[in-house]
Amino acid sequence: MMIIAGPCSIEDKSFINLSKKLKELGATHIRGGVFKPRSSPFRWHGIGEEAFSLIKEMKAEVNLPFVSEAMNPKQIEQLYPLVDIFQIGARNQTDSELLKEFGRQDKPVIMKRGMATTIEEFVMYADYIISEGNPNVILCERGIRTFENYTRNTFDINCIPAVKELCNLPIIADASHGTGKRSLVIPVTMGALAAGADGIMVEVHQNPEQAMTDGQQSLTINMFAELMKKINLFKRYMEASDVKA
Ligand code: PEP
Ligand code: MN
Repeated sequence: MMIIAGPCSIEDKSFINLSKKLKELGATHIRGGVFKPRSSPFRWHGIGEEAFSLIKEMKAEVNLPFVSEAMNPKQIEQLYPLVDIFQIGARNQTDSELLKEFGRQDKPVIMKRGMATTIEEFVMYADYIISEGNPNVILCERGIRTFENYTRNTFDINCIPAVKELCNLPIIADASHGTGKRSLVIPVTMGALAAGADGIMVEVHQNPEQAMTDGQQSLTINMFAELMKKINLFKRYMEASDVKA
């Protein structure tokens, strides 16, 4: 099961230590934003190229595959030597020309669900990547826009079993963006796994209150440890009951 964990944005050297701890606790992949999409051009957009040496250091010391978002062909080229899996963000998910560019890459791609993309459209958009020659697409449910505003987005649990009915692509669950609230991330992640998700993506920060982006939805390291305990129990239960986890 894919457990992708890490900060919303790579900020500084603390990324290395955080990644080490996440690996010890059971993360299989490290995430970290380099080029950040933001709702306002006047907000902070990530450390960009300054992150490259930190990613190299993380890979040398922690030795886990790395996931990060590219928003245009130039960023795809810049991130290519550093990422093991590309991420397509929710804001760019319906950009068919960009999807085709990811289709020409020989690395897997996580495609987040757009905020207003229906389940059937989500599956169809994946074909832009696949038909260009890249079959390694992993879908990611990360919440959609609804009238509900207690949460940042509404995590659509329906999407997980529905995608399984519609195609053979793996789907992972991002309850961090799907809820926008740290206190809801663990239960919603567990719900998604029970619904059949093939893995998870979760934001974790060594000090969420100080995070440059998405601190309110980032787990503390202790919370990630608690989540991993629950995931390991769930995996054991699924194995014991002989149901595919
Ligand atoms: C992220 O993963 O930090 C991110 C920006 O996600 P999304 O595209 O789902 O909003
Ligand atoms: Mn984020």
